[in-house]
Amino acid sequence: MVDHKVYDLVGVGIGPFNLSLAALLDDCTEVKTVFFDQKPHFDWHPGMLIVGTRLQVPFMADLVTLADPTNKYSFLNYLSEKNRLYPFYFLQRLDIPRREYNDYCQWAADGLKNCRFGKKVSSLEYMQSEKCFVITVQDMKTKEITTYKGKNIVLGTGSTPVMPKSFQGFSEEDVFHTSQFLKRQKRCRKAKSITVIGSGQSAAEVFRELLKERLDHQYQLTWITRSPSFLSMEESKLSVEQFSPDYVNYFYQFPQEKKDEIFASQDLLYKGISAHTTTDIYNLLYEHSVSGEELDVSLQVLTEVKGIEEKGDNYKILCHQWQQNKEFSHESEVVIVGTGYRPNVPDFVKKLDSYISWDDQGRYEVEADYRLRLDLPNQIYVHSGISHSHGLGSTNLGLAVHRNKVIINHLLRKEIFPIYDKYVFQNFDAEKFN
Ligand SMILES: Cc1cc2nc3c(=O)[nH]c(=O)nc-3n(C[C@H](O)[C@H](O)[C@H](O)COP(=O)(O)OP(=O)(O)OC[C@H]3O[C@@H](n4cnc5c(N)ncnc54)[C@H](O)[C@@H]3O)c2cc1C
Repeated sequence: MVDHKVYDLVGVGIGPFNLSLAALLDDCTEVKTVFFDQKPHFDWHPGMLIVGTRLQVPFMADLVTLADPTNKYSFLNYLSEKNRLYPFYFLQRLDIPRREYNDYCQWAADGLKNCRFGKKVSSLEYMQSEKCFVITVQDMKTKEITTYKGKNIVLGTGSTPVMPKSFQGFSEEDVFHTSQFLKRQKRCRKAKSITVIGSGQSAAEVFRELLKERLDHQYQLTWITRSPSFLSMEESKLSVEQFSPDYVNYFYQFPQEKKDEIFASQDLLYKGISAHTTTDIYNLLYEHSVSGEELDVSLQVLTEVKGIEEKGDNYKILCHQWQQNKEFSHESEVVIVGTGYRPNVPDFVKKLDSYISWDDQGRYEVEADYRLRLDLPNQIYVHSGISHSHGLGSTNLGLAVHRNKVIINHLLRKEIFPIYDKYVFQNFDAEKFN
């Protein structure tokens, strides 16, 4: 099938970033937009919607508030429509449950007519004769193919879990990434031993949940990390000002080599564990130790997992304590790998190779206003895979709303949303010192 309309903007992927853009453009009659997602409905990291997990940013980083607090897709309006304003008022918390954020986004997605689910974008080509992109979309149920025309594209294809090679090729029921946790929770309950590898926020949340459930299910539980300690994420108010438009602008101006150097030094701002999660874990460990019986839980730092081998019903985990340079092994029936995510840049983007500027590490070059550096009159705006160009805040929910203000202003060639020079108290740039 062919859709003969020419859209001003076609969105690929409907995670929070493009959903925010769709919501901010909902009332705009000047542009025709359509957004596609392969999932049957909006679902935000479903394997990690563990009860008790919280959004790591205040609820004000919803889809619209930081751009337009009067927009009907605000979190407060969602609460109002669901008649939950009073419980939220008495809750007195900024960090809402992650499950609630997902429910809120589902509510917004249901209201947005330009968001189409169950549709996978399978290719993207440029048509020189009509100066537009041709987007091929497959319906995930019927397999029917439809082509669309778009003057501009916005990529919001998110990230994919990273599963190192040494953990691949085993039963997916037994050896899996944290992103699969809820899907495999029943399996965990039946296991005699479980090992969690890694010490980022996801690994910590999985470990906390397994620790909570251990009293009922009695498995032996182990947590192994290469890091020297279970490091806390830097969350102080002045530190988190680095997740501001001011810092993005400051970071952007550096040459790529310098950006890579800065980014590599910022691990603790996004890689560690939230203080409340560590506190919960410690409290649980303490409570479990009350009876005086030996606690069948191990926490091992400074230890790199080199690989795993099948051994009967178990997996032999090959470990290296790198500070002491000592090898040892540990057996476990289930192994959960918290090795993070990497940007999902679809293959069809690489097929536009000849129009796109790439850096010497194979990353696309991105303009300050989130357009790919293209040899075309049309634009491809990007949310995903821009940490190298725009820094550590690129995957932050609050900053994504600011990014959408910049994208909309560019798309409409006028200032729909005012952009200010300064948003936070501190200065990063010596030239702005006063
Ligand atoms: C477990 C977890 C918790 C997080 N918590 C927070 C937090 O509390 N605060 C914070 O600021 N950040 C958080 N982040 C980081 C970030 O906010 C999220 O990763 C966020 O989901 C990124 O949004 P997105 O729209 O880029 O991508 P995603 O949410 O990953 O969505 C991308 C979408 O694109 C679709 N897609 C991909 N390819 C195609 C295609 N070819 N055709 C159609 N659809 C396609 C996918 O189906 C998917 O729905 C978290 C990340 C993770 C992994």
